[in-house]
Amino acid sequence: MATVIDGKAVAADVLATIKAASQRLTAETGVVPGIAVVIVGHDPASQVYVASKGKKAKECGFNSIEHALPSETTEKELVALVEKLNADPAVHGILVQLPLPDHIDSGSIIQTIAPEKDVDGFHFINVGKLGTGELDTAFVPCTPAGSMLLIERALGRDLSGLTAVVVGRSNIVGKPIANLLLNANATVTIAHSRTKDLPALCRSADILVAAVGRPEMIKGDWVKPGATVIDVGINRIAGGDGRARLVGDVAYAEAEARAGAITPVPGGVGPMTIALLMANTLTSARRAAGQTPPP
Ligand code: NDP
Repeated sequence: MATVIDGKAVAADVLATIKAASQRLTAETGVVPGIAVVIVGHDPASQVYVASKGKKAKECGFNSIEHALPSETTEKELVALVEKLNADPAVHGILVQLPLPDHIDSGSIIQTIAPEKDVDGFHFINVGKLGTGELDTAFVPCTPAGSMLLIERALGRDLSGLTAVVVGRSNIVGKPIANLLLNANATVTIAHSRTKDLPALCRSADILVAAVGRPEMIKGDWVKPGATVIDVGINRIAGGDGRARLVGDVAYAEAEARAGAITPVPGGVGPMTIALLMANTLTSARRAAGQTPPP
């Protein structure tokens, strides 16, 4: 049976380190890390995410500023707010919660965020830095960075010589995870909906990352015995009792019987995302205070 990678415990550990480092930063420099979270409209899931980001930020000793705007907000008004936050020295991280209403172009809003405050890591400058390995000054997207931390902790070794297969090629999950694995010297293949014989490809992977969005698509016999399996997927399906339950992209019970280590859903990658958002905000505050944050 595989070792279960406890994302909740790792996230708690990361958050405790951030809290202590944030207190030190404030004591030494007077700088209090500040995160501004912008939400437009009333999407219930987004409201839950924004509330939990604000709560975690406060627990870390940060200033958390929430800007809740009505659905009718125009793109011009949102750009003006982002530009105001870009210029505010008390704000180190800016997060615009997606999705935005249809009349606003998310892409152009993201590119309006100053790259040095882009704690989601979606600005082209940060995407380019990750692609070229400039990790010291980049912001890496939070879910990929959190997934990578779990891989490093699970393996506890350099990834040289290991093969990694990432299933999914989205800009926010699949591609950045693949880049991080490549940077860490794994030999990486990115698979997607046009990939031929996906089961055989997956079976070649020492590290298998699933970021597809299809419930339990990756079967147990697609897993190489002893592999490290990271399940990024979050899918809500109807359970036997008619109540909704969360499952990943990997058929967990089957995969657990073959893997060396595996993340559960929930409780694996999920809790890491918010922890890495706080880590990016602290990094931004340290850079603003003239400190060189540790990697
Ligand atoms: P996208 O829908 O943007 O991308 C899905 C990817 O999976 C695409 O590249 C697609 O290929 C590929 N794909 C779809 N079907 C197949 C198939 N049958 N075989 C092979 N590849 C396939 O999803 P995201 O990257 O945004 O998210 C992926 C999952 O991660 C979702 O479940 C999402 O909920 C979850 N997620 C979890 C987060 C967390 O905090 N834990 C954060 C973000 C996302 P193609 O490009 O060819 O269409």
